[in-house]
Amino acid sequence: MELVSRRNLLAVTAGGALVAAAAKAQAQSFGNPDLPPEGAASTAQDPASITDPGSQNPALASQFPSAQSPPSTDVGSMALPWASFNNAPKRIQGGGWARQVTQKDFSIAEEISGVNMRLTAGGIRELHWHLATEWAYMTYGNCRITVLDEQGRAYVADVKEGDLWYFPAGLPHSLQGLGPDGCEFVICFDDGKASEFNTLLLTDWMAHTPPHVLAKNFGIPAEQFSKIPLHDLYIFQGKLPGPLAADRQAVTSPLGAPPYPFTFSLGAMKPLRQTKGGEVRVADSSNFTVSKRIAAALVTVHPGGLRELHWHPNADEWQYWIKGKGRMTVFNTGPNAVTMDFNPGDIGYVKRAQGHYVENTGDTDLMVLEVFRSDRFEDVALSDWLSHTPPALVAQHLNLDTSTIRRIPNDKPLVMPD
Ligand code: MN
Ligand code: MN
Repeated sequence: MELVSRRNLLAVTAGGALVAAAAKAQAQSFGNPDLPPEGAASTAQDPASITDPGSQNPALASQFPSAQSPPSTDVGSMALPWASFNNAPKRIQGGGWARQVTQKDFSIAEEISGVNMRLTAGGIRELHWHLATEWAYMTYGNCRITVLDEQGRAYVADVKEGDLWYFPAGLPHSLQGLGPDGCEFVICFDDGKASEFNTLLLTDWMAHTPPHVLAKNFGIPAEQFSKIPLHDLYIFQGKLPGPLAADRQAVTSPLGAPPYPFTFSLGAMKPLRQTKGGEVRVADSSNFTVSKRIAAALVTVHPGGLRELHWHPNADEWQYWIKGKGRMTVFNTGPNAVTMDFNPGDIGYVKRAQGHYVENTGDTDLMVLEVFRSDRFEDVALSDWLSHTPPALVAQHLNLDTSTIRRIPNDKPLVMPD
């Protein structure tokens, strides 16, 4: 049948090139499985296919080579797994700024919303609380956090780059940048719809409570409250706090300290896995006990390395791209596969159980944070599955020799090469 149509085509076309292109366009091949074939490699006979004479923004386009020219293995119409803090409007006030990407901006991000915040030395994120659980990773500088637990036990700690904090939903807390240059961090809420600009603020409540009620509540004459702010502060420039030990002393409760710390040094811990390709550190409720609703992996991929093909059976993955550059491909039934490029400050998102991998496309280390709304980090690796399935069974699926199958890493490297 194909031969017939090819002969017909030959009869009606003047040159052979078009025919050859048409014939080639019918061919599936290794690395280009779809019909009709997709990708720039399929257009060698017809170079005009990849031209783009319309409006251009080269500065932006150059950031996304995989969208400009997707691999021939990409197919279908998956939701974009990419968002960024880089184009999220900053709310700037004396003392620092905040910006966020919630599900309103990034529709697939159902389980987690993200905030990026900067506080100056002395800059205060005012005392507040909210419905969502708050988990944070410090990307720069030093910060003092305060939190009161549900039994009235106070916790004060200083955190630095690579550290985490965790505030269970509803518990009141504050943040303050320390010397020499304040801090910057990324917050994750365990709800894609949660907004950092919609929190319950101390100043708001005080200003919206009748003075005589304030007097009764605190046992202090109402006049003493006459200078409270009438508008919220949210972020404001404050004075640097004294030594941590003094603050800890000042908040001592007869009930003692909370049983578990609300902070954790993720960056400084020994890697869970270290290979030639990179390393992975994990913080979840197994080592960061208080973190019952968020699990995270800090992944470093060396140049040329690959965060191996895997998926997460228990939760969606929200990513923060800390440094370096890379490319992620996400796979789902359909088939669907989409590849996207990421730079520092970008956000990635992968739905639960969808296959994915990350390549370092730069010449420096790539660091990515993988965050999950779960008490445990869970990860199923393709190599681990295939190396722990009877080789004859795998061989029949993939037309591989069993000797080849035995070469697949069987110790879950997480980052390749192992
Ligand atoms: Mn908060
Ligand atoms: Mn992952």
